[in-house]
Amino acid sequence: YAARLQRLASDAGRVAVPLPVGPVERIDPQAVAAALEQDPTLTHLALVYSETGSGICHDVPELARVAHALGRRVIVDAVSAFGALPLDLGALPAVEAVILTANKCLEGTPGAAFVVARRDSLEAAGGTAGSWSLDLADVYQLSLQPNAGPRFTPPAPTLAALAVALDLHLEEGREARLARYTANMRTLYDGVKELGLTPYLPPALQGPIVVNVRAPDAPTWNLQLFVDALKRRGYVLSNFYNTEQPSFRVGCIGAFGPGQMQQAVDAMGGALRDIGINRETAGNGGFFPLPLTA
Ligand SMILES: *Cc1c(COP(=O)(O)O)cnc(C)c1O
Repeated sequence: YAARLQRLASDAGRVAVPLPVGPVERIDPQAVAAALEQDPTLTHLALVYSETGSGICHDVPELARVAHALGRRVIVDAVSAFGALPLDLGALPAVEAVILTANKCLEGTPGAAFVVARRDSLEAAGGTAGSWSLDLADVYQLSLQPNAGPRFTPPAPTLAALAVALDLHLEEGREARLARYTANMRTLYDGVKELGLTPYLPPALQGPIVVNVRAPDAPTWNLQLFVDALKRRGYVLSNFYNTEQPSFRVGCIGAFGPGQMQQAVDAMGGALRDIGINRETAGNGGFFPLPLTA
């Protein structure tokens, strides 16, 4: 998603300067500080809080403090973090905008995205979006009009579902939700190891939102056959790889707890057996080696 963020910024006419971070590395605050110090033309630090591609959660508060100390502003893709991971904007004045959607940790349905932004930034940004549909300064100005409504046809079913989802979130509380996702993650992480599979991330890097699992080395392994077998057992996974070395992604978020996650793990074991893979053949030789930082 960091690569996608860079693409979106470039397409919107911004000069996006990537800071390469390995797929099994957490963003190093010192590397960010050095990059910002080296290039005074960099106005913003944009980053993904929970990198859904890998399962790593970056230290947004610390990175925002680094940016703040150097007088830069921060844009956070918190899509798969918001509602579960902490984000105290009152304590992070450098954070200018946070992007979230209805359908991840808020447990609503897809179809609506939101940005929490500082009013002074919205007021200063008029006419610079490079896109009408994503011109948030314009959307903000419109919202100040009497009887303001959305500029485009609103996804009414999504918004109705979100109203219910927000009530449930309020009832559960963010910290309890994070604890539930963390328990789901542990059940999944330990469960796939029990099946003989290898998680993509070492425990110290594993976030609570999504677990990537390395594809087995077994000759009969085939992602599509596994996905089909799992679907017959009532569970759905993506049928594409999104890491350089093949791994499949399993989400820990949604309206369920560790007991149901264990059922999903059992179904994965069954699906592996269906395609001729057992505990002895499911492994793939330990974690990826952690890349050396240059
Ligand atoms: C899911 C996700 C997105 C995209 O959200 P959609 O609802 O698929 O548009 C963006 N960033 C991150 C980190 C995500 O997890």
